Amino acid sequence: VESNGSAEKHSVVYDVPEIKFTKLFINGSFVDAVSGKTFETIDPRTGEVIAKVAEGDKEDIDLAVKAARNAFDHGKWSRMSGFERGQIMMKFADLVDKHTDELAVLDAIDAGKLLSSGKMLDIPDSANVLRYYAGAADKIHGKTLKMSRELFGYTLLEPVGVVGHIIPWNFPSGMFFSKVSPALAAGCTMIVKPAEQTPLSALYYAHLAKLAGIPDGVLNVVNGFGQKAGAAISSHMDIDKISFTGSTEVGRIVMKAAAESNLKVVSLELGGKSPVIIFDDADVDTAVDLALLGILYNKAITVSRTLNGEVCVAGSRVYVQEGIYDEFVKKISVKANNWVVGDPFDPRVQQGPQVDKNQFEKVLSYIEYGKRDGATLLTGGKAIGEKGYYIQPTIFTDVTENMSIVKDEIFGPVLALMKFKTIEEAIEKANNTKYGLAAGIVTKDLNVANRVSRSIRAGTIWINCYLEFDRDVPFGGYKMSGFGKDDGLDSLHKYLNVKSVVTPLYNSPW
Ligand code: NAD
Repeated sequence: VESNGSAEKHSVVYDVPEIKFTKLFINGSFVDAVSGKTFETIDPRTGEVIAKVAEGDKEDIDLAVKAARNAFDHGKWSRMSGFERGQIMMKFADLVDKHTDELAVLDAIDAGKLLSSGKMLDIPDSANVLRYYAGAADKIHGKTLKMSRELFGYTLLEPVGVVGHIIPWNFPSGMFFSKVSPALAAGCTMIVKPAEQTPLSALYYAHLAKLAGIPDGVLNVVNGFGQKAGAAISSHMDIDKISFTGSTEVGRIVMKAAAESNLKVVSLELGGKSPVIIFDDADVDTAVDLALLGILYNKAITVSRTLNGEVCVAGSRVYVQEGIYDEFVKKISVKANNWVVGDPFDPRVQQGPQVDKNQFEKVLSYIEYGKRDGATLLTGGKAIGEKGYYIQPTIFTDVTENMSIVKDEIFGPVLALMKFKTIEEAIEKANNTKYGLAAGIVTKDLNVANRVSRSIRAGTIWINCYLEFDRDVPFGGYKMSGFGKDDGLDSLHKYLNVKSVVTPLYNSPW
């Protein structure tokens, strides 16, 4: 156990298991990249190589799209009854459950996620997301339309076709299933490009999909880099829809490529800089826990889940009303200083490493910007240990709205703490961002909570809670946090086209 002044770093020795799947999964088989190239995936706990993974590029995306198009046109998935599709998806979910331990280990070594959280949350949630959409697969209904003349109309909901999913590294399993499950239920075929930092669990899922009976070509997984494999997806002429989760910067590139190729339908889940507003009437201890939950972890009361600020909805701007501000500052600094940072395999650990060297350095440079701009470091501010990518939980006070630590998404354990006087000021400050992904409100006054909820331009508002997701609750952004919902039935509809059919009620005049 290492002590680092502001937080502790625990270490346990955990051997990297044998990695079974490292090739691309195209048309039901694991294959090498056409170029024969591979790339290294790194363990963020140590900075060491876990495995070499096939590196897909344009030629591999072409092969995967061809397989997906054939599977779609052949109708072996899209024209299968919804019930049957659902049954296969249920089987897939059971297989995910059966392999929970191995999958949680893969996400822990690849993404630095806490093993306990993988086992208790990420992987079981993934299986349940599959089940949720499996149950919807035979309940996809159009409408009957009473037309103004003697005509009868109805709508058919049809799968949108071949889908490209481009996903980030912060929830390798959760993100995979929040994209793949509704698309499968809708009857689409697809290509998934996982983030280059976390290629491993997606390949395991491809293997399980095959075991479950998902026909060849329906689900293809092509690992590779964004500018090559990712760009080949966004600019492909034979992909009908792209579902992207990642940074706002890359979302813009993806949308441009879609516009300049075949105008494929785009949905974007992008970055955020979410505010948490804490009013004077809040219980300070609870508010401190919620604020820390927003930036550092999830469900710590029951299970700790590592987020390290690596979550798009991180509550990275906390506004505290003046009456409780001083007490809040005192209490949050004590808790943040006692935070346990370390190896995600250690059950005592509350926060694992950042995902890779780039992110680690980016977060540390934002901490430097904060200091340079004159903010006061309340806690943390440093890397921990010699090896791996660990950072202390860092809280700044005395920050102003124009500082980069308040404006930019940092995607790390860095919190900006601010004071406000009135409800109007809180609303104005909370909305003073280009992002609109989520917001938190802590108050006992329901009128205040309702008023603020309606005034904040963001896709999700958490009142007296934070980071509470559910597969039935639509999730997505306003403003530059993107558009189109993941989760819920809204997400299923992203993968469906509406076709209108019209016919005369009586003898056709034509
Ligand atoms: P990123 O945008 O760098 O990468 C995301 C994915 O896009 C990766 O698979 C990457 O390979 C690919 N990519 C990169 N360049 C590309 C290009 N030119 N063309 C096509 N694809 C390309 O993001 P990241 O660093 O992996 O993830 C962090 C970001 O994701 C943060 O901004 C975070 O807020 C966002 N995020 C959003 C949500 C959400 O639901 N809104 C969820 C998780 C993460």
